[in-house]
Amino acid sequence: MDRFDQIVVGGGLAGTVLVYQLTKAGQRVCWIKAGLERSSTMVAAGLINPLVFRYLTPVWKVQTLLPEAINFYKKLEKELGQQCLHEINIAKVFGDQDAALWQRKMQLPEIAPWINGIGAVPDNEVLIQPHGVGFVNGYWLDTGVFLRGMEHYLSDKIVSFNERFELKRLNIEPDKVSYDKRCLADKLIFCEGWEAVKNSFFDFVPFRPVKGELLTLKIDNLESKYLLNKEVFLLPLGEHLFRLGSTYDWDDLSINTTAQAREYLLEKLASFLPAKIEVIDHQAGVRPAVADRRPVAGLHPEHPQLAIFNGLGARGVMIAPWLGQQLLELLRYQKPLDEEVDLQRFVKR
Ligand SMILES: Cc1cc2nc3c(=O)[nH]c(=O)nc-3n(C[C@H](O)[C@H](O)[C@H](O)COP(=O)(O)OP(=O)(O)OC[C@H]3O[C@@H](n4cnc5c(N)ncnc54)[C@H](O)[C@@H]3O)c2cc1C
Repeated sequence: MDRFDQIVVGGGLAGTVLVYQLTKAGQRVCWIKAGLERSSTMVAAGLINPLVFRYLTPVWKVQTLLPEAINFYKKLEKELGQQCLHEINIAKVFGDQDAALWQRKMQLPEIAPWINGIGAVPDNEVLIQPHGVGFVNGYWLDTGVFLRGMEHYLSDKIVSFNERFELKRLNIEPDKVSYDKRCLADKLIFCEGWEAVKNSFFDFVPFRPVKGELLTLKIDNLESKYLLNKEVFLLPLGEHLFRLGSTYDWDDLSINTTAQAREYLLEKLASFLPAKIEVIDHQAGVRPAVADRRPVAGLHPEHPQLAIFNGLGARGVMIAPWLGQQLLELLRYQKPLDEEVDLQRFVKR
């Protein structure tokens, strides 16, 4: 049986970031992953927006998470030899009340650094913007490029199995775990995304997965380099292609696309950008979220050989590098996790 420091289950954003961080820290990792077509990461638009537009407040821990994420992906791009993180100027298209709110709130020290002014999107004949727009500096991660690049980069550095992990083949031994009589490790870390709801070891975590749908559009008469946002977002991909998203559905957790979601997205878009569009693609995925809207990491209370890295919700791109580092430091140096993300918050005492 091959000996490892960790077995990591799942090859979405969480698993990929963690495997990379562990490998960089000199750990021997065995990676078991399958089903990228069911991965939320493959569907995600990959946006990083430092502000919550509905209330014009900073997102949770943005001052810590954002610089750490940018630093992480930029360093990684050098190793991969390709770009996966892109800067994007976000233009929040104002409704009739927004301009006053922004004028007031952009004076606040916690908001001011993220706002890049108020005005109008230039050279855009189609956009309806009578109340103006607010500009914010954002980013987006091309998650497909990221996952493929990382898989290639890690392929000669770790042992990986492209198959579904099955709990019935897991053997918990004192201070270690073994899987399928093939690999033995000190820890096994589950990064299963929303499918963690089926993992009986972590059934005490109040997961609250959220389905989301996105469209890929071709808009011939639009050249915009801005990410336009008004209830829905329109992310420019180049060559007149755009991603339009996204919906939130807590009831239907399938990855089937729906006519209702398509209609909703196109209707919202038409309210501020009445352009002739062609729908090229339609995708759905399930965001792995937790009821208290915080990510979750930590060791199982009874079987500390098992760990979890999950709950990235709708902001995984910004959270994953920081959370992975938190978990790495717990595993390697027993450094306590940030209390807000610690699995222990769900353990009944
Ligand atoms: C429509 C939509 C839009 C989004 N937009 C954004 C955005 O703009 N910005 C942002 O930051 N986030 C966004 N997200 C959220 C983002 O996708 C998630 O936060 C993040 O990708 C979750 O990563 P994960 O690795 O935890 O889960 P996943 O990407 O779902 O990966 C989990 C993986 O584990 C695998 N797995 C599960 N069980 C097993 C098993 N037993 N054996 C082997 N493999 C297993 C699954 O098949 C899957 O591949 C969006 C999500 C959706 C659905």
